[in-house]
Parts: sequence; structure tokens; C-alpha cells
Amino acid sequence: MFTAETISVGTELLMGEILDTNARFLARELKNLGIAVLRQTVVGDNPGRLADAMRCALSRTDIVICTGGLGPTEDDITKETLAKVLGVPLETDPEMLRMIESYFRARKIPMGETNKKQALIPVGGEALPNENGTAPGCYIRHGKGCVALLPGPPGEMKALFRKELLPLLKDYSSGTLVSHYVKVIGLGESRMAELAYAYLHMDNPTVAPYFKDGECYLRVTASGATEEAAERIAAPVVKKLLRLLGVNAYGVDISLAEAVIGLLKDKGKTVALAESCTGGGIGALLTDVPGASDVFGYGIVSYSNECKEKVLGVNPDTLKSFGAVSKECAQEMALGALALSGADCAVAVTGIAGPTGIGNANPAGNGNAVPARAGNAGSAAKPKASEKPAGLIFICATDGKRFEHIRLDTGRNDRGYNRTLAGKQALEALRKLLLKPEMRR
Ligand code: AMP
Ligand code: MG
Repeated sequence: MFTAETISVGTELLMGEILDTNARFLARELKNLGIAVLRQTVVGDNPGRLADAMRCALSRTDIVICTGGLGPTEDDITKETLAKVLGVPLETDPEMLRMIESYFRARKIPMGETNKKQALIPVGGEALPNENGTAPGCYIRHGKGCVALLPGPPGEMKALFRKELLPLLKDYSSGTLVSHYVKVIGLGESRMAELAYAYLHMDNPTVAPYFKDGECYLRVTASGATEEAAERIAAPVVKKLLRLLGVNAYGVDISLAEAVIGLLKDKGKTVALAESCTGGGIGALLTDVPGASDVFGYGIVSYSNECKEKVLGVNPDTLKSFGAVSKECAQEMALGALALSGADCAVAVTGIAGPTGIGNANPAGNGNAVPARAGNAGSAAKPKASEKPAGLIFICATDGKRFEHIRLDTGRNDRGYNRTLAGKQALEALRKLLLKPEMRR
């Protein structure tokens, strides 16, 4: 199998101004060609460091692909640097020069003298015409592999890759890799890895555990001479993992919302939502899925206590005694949404997204208001430990007879994280409810 390294060139990448999406795109494309990407390097617009990065990459990998630094300005030095590293001069490619000239002519803008430099190609290299900009790419054979330069702007880079470089890289392709993702919820990453332990050290397919946004998954990657052959290698392992993980594996290559919507459709049920701390986030997850309208019609964002009472019919005594962030309130919100909508089931979420919790003084707080600070803003007074800390979230899913409650205590004051987790777990509560044997069509 041929090996590859990508080099993303640009100081703006190192300064965190833009995300290196080119590396990601190339990683996926090379994977599909069955070329193993071993490293992704990012380097600034500095001739010495770029030359170092190129030398290193060429010494240890078959295929090196650089993006960026092909523009007309002083800091665009990728081609010049590669020519130096390879010990070859640059020469103007007349066809590329014509293309650049016609690019400016078509737009009726004068061509700068510096744009001529963009038609320079290292001797021995092949120019890759760029139909969407002024920077052509180039391709040079090197050792048993090659080196290629592509423009930085992602749109130009992708188009040029697909049209010009991809056909050339087929020479290095060793079949295809396919990946499938066995999606898991309700198990920690370590427990999932324990269960799947026997599969984590295989060669083909490889199985790797991941954890992201409150969900875990196992990536199964198989390589084969053709896509079909790779699929045949992956399929039995995916099947075994699904059996092993049981009810915690909600699907393969689908989102949790897709899995839940699929279940609702299978069972012929509809769902309504009552959301407090997620503020419509669960509705957004569901409506991301095409066809969600078949099973989802009502979503109430009841952020205030007033809305919980007026719209959802939560008992004021419940709010007074237990507070809005409570199991009792979540259950009444869910029942309220059920009654209001006439849906078959409902899910409610109420919790404290953070960053601060609610103190002892105000148990009825709805968790969404910013609590008054103890002392002056600038005082060093230690805040009292909250009775209800950030990350305390109550979820209830119900069909009016059965209840699925989840209490989360994330221990984190990260608002985004808590809201994401609350949304995922709300879908999980609904999934559990729908999986109950009594929830027949
Ligand atoms: P350059 O070809 O270096 O002049 O890059 C032109 C523009 O392309 C940059 O200002 C970025 O906006 C974009 N760009 C360059 N490299 C990357 C990269 N690796 N990922 C995403 N965008 C990039
Ligand atoms: Mg640049």
C-alpha cells in the first residue's frame, strides 16, 4: 500500500484563523483510493520550515500533497520551495500563462505582473490547470511515488483534485477502504471498548472506538481490491458488534435522531416535545431528518415557569415544592405536551445548562435565569455550593401510561456540552420508551 502525507501551507492555519479543511478532504479522498495517510503537517509561509517539512515528508512517504501558497503574492512560496528541495529550476508553462491571461480577460480586470509567476512549474513537473482561479496545481513523479501542489482555497482545491489529480493518483491506488460506524448510546467509551475488546486488534477490518458529544461509536474499516470486496470483509464484523452491544447499539451509519424517527415510523407513533434548557435543540435534531414531519408536529419551548404552567399545565405547587428543575416537573411537562398535542408520546427536558447553578435560596428557580451573585461583582466572596448545580438535567418520556425517566448530573458547567447531552439523552429516553415490548403498532 502506498503511503501519503499532506502538508497544509499557511500561517493563518497556525494562528487559528481558519480550520484546515483541506487536510480533511484529502484524507478522505486518499482513504477511498486505498492510500494510507500517515501524517498531516501544517506549516506557515516560511521558506526554511516549509523546505524542512517537504524534505521530511518526501524522505518518509511515497506521496506528498501540499495545499496553499500558490498565490501571486510574496508569501506564496510553495512552488519555489519545492523546486529548491528537488534541485530543479522553474519554467513558465505557456498553456498555464494563457489560461491565467484569459481568466483576467474574461473578468475584464487587468492582470498583475505577479500573476505571471503563477504559470511557473518546476521542470519535470506537469501543470494541473485550475478552472476556478489563477493558481494552477502541479504534479511531479518522485521516487516510486509523487508530489503534488494544489491551491489553498478549498473550492478550487477540491475541483482541481477531482478533475486533474485523482485520475493520476489511481496509479497508486491499492483498492478501496470502506468504513462503517456502529453507533452506541447509554454505554461509556471504556465499557464499550471492554465489550468489543476482542475486535480491537484485528488487521482487516480494523475496529476503533470513539467518543463524541455524549455518544460512542466503533469505526469498522475494511480494505479490499474493490468496494464490494471491502464491504464483504466489513459486514460480518459489523453484524457481530451489533449483536454484542445489544440494545445500546442504535444503528449503523445513522444519527440518533434518524434511529428514533425510524422507530417512530416502524411503530406508527408520533411524538411531541416540551423543551426547557435545550431551547428547541431536540426539535432541531429531529427536523434535521427528512420526513420528520410524519412523526413530529408539536414542539413547545417552555423556557419560563409561566410557560410551563400556562401552556403545559404544570402545577404551580410542583414548581414551588420541587422547582422547575426536577423529575416531577419533567413528568408534568411531558404529560402536558402529550395532552396538548394529542401525540402518542412526548418527551420533556428541564435542567440547568450553566455555567452557574441555582442556589438554596431559590428552589423554584427555573434554571434558566442568571442567579443573583453573592456580594459585589468584584468581591472575592466564594459562591455557595449550588443545591442544583449546572449539568443537573431531568428528562421524561411518556406515552401517558409508561414513563422513562433519566436524571443527568454531568458535573460540568459547560452550557453547550450540557445542552447537547440533554438533547441526546432525551432522544435516548424516547428510544427506550419505544423499545418497550408493549409499544406495539
Ligand atoms: P493560499 O493559496 O495559501 O493563498 O490560500 C488562500 C486561501 O485559501 C486562504 O486564505 C484560506 O482562506 C484558504 N485555505 C488555504 N489553505 C487552507 C486549508 N488547508 N484549509 C482550508 N482553507 C485553506
Ligand atoms: Mg497562503
